[in-house]
Amino acid sequence: MASIAVCPGSFDPVTIGHINIITRASKLFDKVIVVVMVNSRKNSAMFSPEERMDFIRRSISHLKNVEVDFYDGLLADYVVRKGAVAIVKGLRVLSDYEDEFKQALTNKRLAQNVETIFLVTDTEYMFLSSSVVKEVGSLGGEIGDFVPPEIKDDIMKRIRER
Ligand code: ADP
Repeated sequence: MASIAVCPGSFDPVTIGHINIITRASKLFDKVIVVVMVNSRKNSAMFSPEERMDFIRRSISHLKNVEVDFYDGLLADYVVRKGAVAIVKGLRVLSDYEDEFKQALTNKRLAQNVETIFLVTDTEYMFLSSSVVKEVGSLGGEIGDFVPPEIKDDIMKRIRER
């Protein structure tokens, strides 16, 4: 049976740090579903779910076993419904750890057969987050080192419109 993994996140917007994790996951599983979610603990997103999915799709079009979806419900329900064996998350710094640990334990309780797998970030992406992109872009800085080249101009256009 094909092994399916889910990479969840807000992806507001997707960064090359996310793409690094998605690419590495695509080598470990037969199929990877990147799922754009609504994070109720974060302030409202800058980009709509459709825009966030479009940015991801355009950035991963070379990865044939990766698809993109949106879900605004419980992650554990989604992974079970998709028949996934794993949730893949990226770990940057120690501060990611506590929250990710809680989420992994909760998801294990809700979906016993699904493992959370952490891929440690490559060092060059340690500092990188969607917030960094939004902050730098809003102040007119260069975001070319932070986001995939295919979507850079559209991200900047949207940030400037706001
Ligand atoms: P969330 O809203 O859950 O924090 P994000 O969109 O910020 O979602 O991130 C989705 C996933 O990607 C998380 O597992 C996060 O730890 C990981 N991630 C984000 N940025 C990086 C990065 N620079 N390197 C590695 N993993 C990252």
